Amino acid sequence: MNFSELKLIDPLLHAVRAEGYSEPTPIQLQAIPHILNGKDVVGCAQTGTGKTAAFALPILQRLTAQPRRQTAIRVLVLSPTRELASQIGDSFATYGRHLPLRHTVIFGGVGQQPQVQALKRGVEILVATPGRLLDLMGQGLVNLNTIEIFVLDEADRMLDMGFIHDVRRIISALPQKRQTLLFSATMPQDIQDLADRILVTPVRVEVTPQATTVEKITQSVFFVEKNDKRPLLEHLLDDPAIRRVLVFTRTKHGANKLVQQLERARIGAEAIHGNKSQSARERALENFKTGRTRVLVATDIAARGIDVEDVTHVINYDLPNIPESYVHRIGRTARAGAEGIAYSFCDTSERPFLRDIEKLIRLRVPVVTDHPYVSTQPFNAAPPSPTPSARKPVQQGQSNRRSSEQRRRQPSR
Ligand code: AMP
Repeated sequence: MNFSELKLIDPLLHAVRAEGYSEPTPIQLQAIPHILNGKDVVGCAQTGTGKTAAFALPILQRLTAQPRRQTAIRVLVLSPTRELASQIGDSFATYGRHLPLRHTVIFGGVGQQPQVQALKRGVEILVATPGRLLDLMGQGLVNLNTIEIFVLDEADRMLDMGFIHDVRRIISALPQKRQTLLFSATMPQDIQDLADRILVTPVRVEVTPQATTVEKITQSVFFVEKNDKRPLLEHLLDDPAIRRVLVFTRTKHGANKLVQQLERARIGAEAIHGNKSQSARERALENFKTGRTRVLVATDIAARGIDVEDVTHVINYDLPNIPESYVHRIGRTARAGAEGIAYSFCDTSERPFLRDIEKLIRLRVPVVTDHPYVSTQPFNAAPPSPTPSARKPVQQGQSNRRSSEQRRRQPSR
């Protein structure tokens, strides 16, 4: 099936062709006809599946089909992060380049004046993060009375990031009569409840990115102790095949420290995380996109929506404790059909995280055993327990019992 069979209008077909898309992705195939028909849609899909075009294309078409004489905000897209909001804005610009519709993106962390001016000039499509939008609403600078289509993107992240109350407040300012589209990578109960409340007889569309994305990525895990992670990373980076690599750390501090250490080893690296100013984040991203920086060190939240083509490798310097984050992270390589490589460093304390990840992706991640920093801890070692009582020395017999129990739980590690 190609895009023209989806009954998209020529200006959109031209734009899609210019982007080099030969056929719609599964989420686009499923969602576009319903959105064009004015249905509410719940989409279970993550970034990397083509979901932005799945809503942006039919939205642009609907706005074009029913032009308004006066400029008013007709579409609101809420995004949890500034990076994702910018990317959604870019997508509207790309797909709508042959249409006379205007959009703007508003988010916090930067001065509000240019955003206010853009709003005053008039836009049909507004992409926003919740905090700044509420701020501007409070100042009477944004009016949502004229919204016809509302998109809540990455709803599960909104929840994780504590934005759900802000989102509810924004929804209460929207007209009752509207089309609502909700996208979420996962569907926890809270999101399901929200969907039940804000959507009217929605169509559910679902793609199974976890399996499809993950299968295209060559994954491996390195068992390595914490102090050896940095030398292992430097060792791996000796390989010039690692051209453009996204390295994930758990904390912002960890990201900064790693960048300093890599710079000392004369490896070009920059960090991107929530403590950096918007301009520093954009600069880091731009340097990475253009290849000036080889290594971009990111935390999970900052990495949401990073859409850089040709990321050759993702390295999980720290394993995430939320298994879905692993899928999001490695999905940064293998964008739009390309194949990618993901390495994960796993120290003893992170082994339970690895088990959770493997359960989610229903795959055993192959272990690399021929590297210079192999952990001396046996693969089936029990992770250190965080409870003080369990740290008390145990007698020989007890210790043996624990490890055999552990072996039973982890048959091959
Ligand atoms: P998204 O899930 O919206 O973040 O999109 C992921 C990537 O897929 C972006 O780089 C898009 O440009 C690209 N993309 C979207 N739709 C298609 C398509 N039909 N064919 C090829 N690439 C696409």
